[in-house]
Amino acid sequence: MQRIKLEINPGMKPGILSDIADLVLGRRCVGCNEGGTILCPECDAHIKGHSHIARDFRFDEIQEGLRIPLAVACVYAPPMSTLIYSYKDAHVPALAPVLSRYLESALDELSTSGVPKATLTPIPTRSAAIRRRGFDAMELISRNLIKRGHVVEHMLTDNRTAGHSKALDSRSRSREVQDAFAITPTTQRLIKKANPIIIFDDVTTTGSTLKEAAMTLMQAGVQIVGVAAIAGARKR
Ligand SMILES: [Zn+2]
Repeated sequence: MQRIKLEINPGMKPGILSDIADLVLGRRCVGCNEGGTILCPECDAHIKGHSHIARDFRFDEIQEGLRIPLAVACVYAPPMSTLIYSYKDAHVPALAPVLSRYLESALDELSTSGVPKATLTPIPTRSAAIRRRGFDAMELISRNLIKRGHVVEHMLTDNRTAGHSKALDSRSRSREVQDAFAITPTTQRLIKKANPIIIFDDVTTTGSTLKEAAMTLMQAGVQIVGVAAIAGARKR
């Protein structure tokens, strides 16, 4: 067992290994490190109740005056940022139901602002990230949302180049975003049924990924009624 762990990361100190074991087994809060539970009531309360419409995306190029609201459940800061890091990069799959529940509060916010009940579709995880982490973070959240009674369909595939976006200048980066996604056969089927769709992601900073995904689907003829994220960057 010890040998396998050391192969994962030879530089890891034993203390970090036991920290991760505590996380995986839910012995300590991922937000504040207090013992007893995977997310303590204080951290949960700190995250909850902050869902809001962060902004409207404008899509005048699709239809003059078309606006689509972005709802976020909370600000991307501790303890939420720690929680998302623990889920994705320290691989604590037990957090998927917790994150799904937060996403639901963003969906409720859309509903409150008049967005109709819709089929959900995730921003697909980058294939490089799935390989690096050994699991598909968005897929696990999608499966939890289905368990909670939502309809989730996979309408987009990931075309984004693996992990080089930081090195690109802004012009090639925007070119990369242009071809970020392609539609799936499921999308063709749903277009015929004219289902309204809400796109969701875990974290949004500039909103460009969600906007690009919405654009890709709308250009294919899909009706997007809202976009949602678990956490969003504070407005600057
Ligand atoms: Zn806590």
